[in-house]
Amino acid sequence: MSRSRGVQMSSKYVTFSRNVFIPVTNVCRNACAYCGFRAMSKEDAYIMSVERFMAIIRSVKGRATEALFTSGDSPELADTRFRDWIRRTTGFSSTVEYTKELCKLAIKEGLLPHCNLGILSYDELEELRPLNASMGLMLETTADVEAHRHSPGKAPELRLEMIANAGELKIPFTTGLLIGIGEKPEDRINSLELLKSLYDEYRHIQEVIIQPFVPKQYTPMCKAKPPDLELMKDVVRTARAILPDEIAIQVPPNLTSPKELIELGASDLGGISEKTIDYINPESPWPSETELREMIAPFVLRERLPIYPEFINRGWYSKEIRPLIERYADEEGLRKRRTDR
Ligand code: SF4
Repeated sequence: MSRSRGVQMSSKYVTFSRNVFIPVTNVCRNACAYCGFRAMSKEDAYIMSVERFMAIIRSVKGRATEALFTSGDSPELADTRFRDWIRRTTGFSSTVEYTKELCKLAIKEGLLPHCNLGILSYDELEELRPLNASMGLMLETTADVEAHRHSPGKAPELRLEMIANAGELKIPFTTGLLIGIGEKPEDRINSLELLKSLYDEYRHIQEVIIQPFVPKQYTPMCKAKPPDLELMKDVVRTARAILPDEIAIQVPPNLTSPKELIELGASDLGGISEKTIDYINPESPWPSETELREMIAPFVLRERLPIYPEFINRGWYSKEIRPLIERYADEEGLRKRRTDR
């Protein structure tokens, strides 16, 4: 399976991670025109309680290996009352402080954290680093698009700076492009080339997600056309041509047709959750592992950890998560094969 339609796969397998999705808070300082995640009113806003968090992670015990933490971008900047609220309800002074505690609990329960909390400072990344197997931030696009008019946290320079900071800190990193939000083909090339230069400098990007925009009801872009499969194929082809083979291209199997994209060089399907929905695209259920295997056959599916084998080899992980990596990784750096399928 190493060659298909003349394209060289960068990996022997198509990989995925078995995760659990933890939306810490939906409070966000941005207002992206396509977003169905952020709290639109005081009544919608939540901070996940420790009790709810523990119930979720215990429900996947022995099954998932990744705890994916997400939140709105810089909730403390969204509303001056947020700090009081989080202190009162959790006892912690900020989203990052609270999420650090949740990461520690996840590790105790056998899960490897991966935080994607929006824009974080260098110091915040440094604090979260020992408690994370990898971290992430979508670049989305370097273009100045109307969809981001009310989203200061989507300024490309801020996002590129954070991705560079993660590189300085040697954090295995996930980023990606959101396709169909008003960017042009040349913008996608520019975004990919900038990610490549960051990788060339720091060697820290393990995967780049090529994610299609999906319109959400009651949002300003509810009637916008999502990218069709031809466009997705074109972007995956372009990404594979620009990015080095060491960076996996990830495509979400609940939002697109993965096999045709794998034939063009994608080699990862991201996190799949048995117990929690895709909170960013709740209308699109995850396929089961069996369905995934059928969707991509004859390509071979393997489960991985939230840290890719290359970064396990390099020792880019902390003593805090070492026992879990030793427990879960096989000699190839992928998830040890399960006997319970
Ligand atoms: S930053 Fe994320 S959560 Fe916030 S509005 Fe944009 S898409 Fe929604």
